This record gives sequence, C-alpha cells and structure tokens, in this order.
Amino acid sequence: MAELNPFKIAQAQLDEATEILGYDKGTRDLLRWPKRELVVHIPVRMDSGEVKVFEAYRVQYNDALGPTKGGLRFHPAETVDTVRALAAWMTWKTAVVDIPLGGGKGGVVCNPKEMSEGELERLARAYMRAVGHFIGPDVDVPAPDVYTTPQIMAWMADEYAVMRGYNVPGVITGKPIPVGGSLGRHDATARGGIFCVREAAVALGIDPKTATYAVQGFGNAGQYGATLYQEILGGGKLIAASDSRGGVISKAGMDPAKLVEHKLSTGKVENFGGTEPISNEDLLELDVDILFPSALENAITDKNAAKVKAKIICELANGPTTPEADKILQEKGCFVIPDFLANAGGVTVSYFEQVQNNMNFYWTIEEVYERLDKKMTDAFHAVYEMHKAKKVNMRVAAYLVAVSRVAEAMKLRGWV
Ligand code: NAD
Repeated sequence: MAELNPFKIAQAQLDEATEILGYDKGTRDLLRWPKRELVVHIPVRMDSGEVKVFEAYRVQYNDALGPTKGGLRFHPAETVDTVRALAAWMTWKTAVVDIPLGGGKGGVVCNPKEMSEGELERLARAYMRAVGHFIGPDVDVPAPDVYTTPQIMAWMADEYAVMRGYNVPGVITGKPIPVGGSLGRHDATARGGIFCVREAAVALGIDPKTATYAVQGFGNAGQYGATLYQEILGGGKLIAASDSRGGVISKAGMDPAKLVEHKLSTGKVENFGGTEPISNEDLLELDVDILFPSALENAITDKNAAKVKAKIICELANGPTTPEADKILQEKGCFVIPDFLANAGGVTVSYFEQVQNNMNFYWTIEEVYERLDKKMTDAFHAVYEMHKAKKVNMRVAAYLVAVSRVAEAMKLRGWV
C-alpha cells in the first residue's frame, strides 16, 4: 500500500502543480510547509472528577491571501500531519473560490462520542484558552468540522469574549444564528458540492434528473448532499448510503429526507425500511453515475480505485482519494470534482458569516444562496477551463488555479 500520511499526500499533490508552474525552490518550499504550528496539552476535569489531558493542534498554513481560516476536529485518530494536510487544503480551497483568506486547521485528540455535554463544553473552552492568544478575526478563524458543532463554536466564541472582555463574533464561524451565525451555513458545504455537480453534469452531458448516486459518510456533508441533490437538481435516485457502522442499498432508490430522519432518530443508516445492508467498501464500487465520498481521508486508494464505476466523483470529504488512486481514476475517465473545490461551499459561507459579523448586518437566505452559487460556479469554471487548457485532471487543474493565486500574493508581498 502506498503512503497514506495525509500531509505527504498533500505535499505530493502540491509538488505536481508547482512542477508544472515551474516555480523556484524557495517558492516551492514555502508552499510545502505550514507557516506556524501550535501543539498544546490541555487539562479538562471530567465528570468522574479526574483530570484528563488532551493533545490538541492549531496549524496556520499560509496567510498570503488573508487571515488563515479552517475547521476544528474532535477525533480520536487526529494527528498533527492530518491537521497540516487539512490546513494546506484549506489554503488551496480559499484560493480556488477566490476569497481573501488563507488556510488553517485545528484538531483535538478525543472521542466526543464518549464524552458528556459538560465535558465537551469544558474541553471546547479549554481549547480556546490554549489557542486564543494566537487566533482572532484578523489572524486565524476556526469553524466546525468532523464531530464539532455550532454549539461548540458558541462556547468557544463565548470563551474568547471572556478572554478579550468584549464580544468578537468574527473569531469563529459556524456559530448558531442567535450568536452571529449566518443563514445557510449548516448546509453550505453540500450545497456548494451540488452546484459543482450541476455544472459538471452539463459539461459531461449527464442528466442529473435521471442519474443515480451514492453517499459514503452520512454525516453533515453527506446528508445534505443527499437531500439537496434532489432539491436543487430536481430528481436523481439515491441508491446507497453509509456511515461508520455500515451502509444500506436500495436499487429502487431511497427518499433522502426519510433516510436523514431515520439516521437522526436511530443514530445510523442501518435498518432503513426497504433496504439491504452494504459494506462501505462495496458502496464505493457501486455502478452509480455520481459518488459522494463524504466521510474521511483515504476512502479511494490504489486497492479499490480500479473497481470504482461512478462517472463523477464529488469529493465532499477532505482527502478521500490518494494520488495513486487519482491516476487510476484518470485513466478510467472518471471525472473527479476535487475536495477543495467540491466542499468549498462551507468556507465560502463561513467567510460570508465573517463579513456579516464585521458589518453587524445580516443577509437573507436568498442572498447567501445567490452569492454562494456565483462563487462556486465561477470556481468550477475556472478549474474546468484550466483542465481543458492544460489537459490535466480536475485536481491538478484546481491546484494550478489556487496555488498560482497564493504564489502571486507571496511574490507581491516580497516573501519570495
Ligand atoms: P460528520 O461527523 O457530520 O460526518 C462524518 C460521517 O462519516 C459520519 O456519519 C460517520 O459515521 C461517517 N464515517 C466515518 N467513518 C466512515 C467510514 N469509514 N465509512 C463510512 N462512513 C464513515 O462530518 P462532516 O462535517 O460531514 O465532514 C465529513 C467530511 O467532509 C470530512 O472530510 C470533512 O473534513 C469534510 N468537510 C466538512 C465540511 C462541513 O462544513 N461540515 C466542510 C468541508 C469539508
């Protein structure tokens, strides 16, 4: 099995782009490494009375285009290299959608499924106390990611307000609406991905109304991806979906909204009426038109890529495809909408949230959707034109668009 360290993968993807762009060594080296990394060990009093120490990270990758921005994960398998990779991808993501922000990411090694609400609140506040002096609306702005929620963002924003002595809503995004959140943030990642699928379907001559699709990872991104597909594209058939406990399949198609209800009430997709079980591995290899990898990294590798049959892969997850798998998918003619383009809707509406916080004036849901659609559609076409012009796959094309924007800003600032 080839290298699965996400940061090495992120660097390998970048190297391919900077080689094509012909950058000098200094520029390449600066693009390959985070600007600043913070590792902290934070004590949290658990409900049992004992103090548990959690390792946590905040990586500020590149701020040539603006303050760094990126989610915070609570995950037991979190590593500094995963956070570095995600921070790098955030840098390319903000650049590809052309918003004036850099890339960052955070993580806490913990298992939120085994923690009470009180423990999670104490952990969220302790994390903010540990990193709060290194972040801020003009420095670095966290947001929700895997296993972190708007409630967790609200606790962290409140802790930051306590540290400063006044409200600073722009310090964090993905907040609940009453404490400065933006309308439309909850489903923005998936909505942006569906806008990309809409444009890709036109480019490839696929009718999304009659197309079949499958969702691997039925969490925030995956659930909204499944329901918004039908809402925005006016049809389609959801054949299969999965979460960490297993998957379900129905050749006749499932009602995505009912599957979401089932998942929310039982905590899993398993045992949804009218379906058969399917493993995560088999789901990825299904003969569907569109596949949405929406779980974690390394879902499609050199082991299973040759068996993937989808015509379009819309990567709602970050890093679901390894570089070896990318080559195999390209040879098969599979059209991949790469992660940092496909899932950029989340950070785009996070950016809108910051803009509204700064103005202290809030937009309607229609304004948010319209602006998101324009950003995503423009970004898709910038990448698609590059893909056609340079005859490279969509991921390399997205890197060429994003990295050249970051490198231009670095040059103008006199860094390289
Ligand atoms: P989430 O925690 O809401 O959902 C993750 C889902 O994946 C869960 O249902 C979990 O059970 C499932 N899962 C975990 N391991 C799995 C496996 N091996 N097979 C199948 N399912 C598995 O998280 P999310 O916010 O939806 O994030 C999912 C992905 O999307 C991540 O890669 C994240 O970085 C990316 N992403 C999310 C956002 C956002 O706004 N939520 C934005 C950009 C990118």
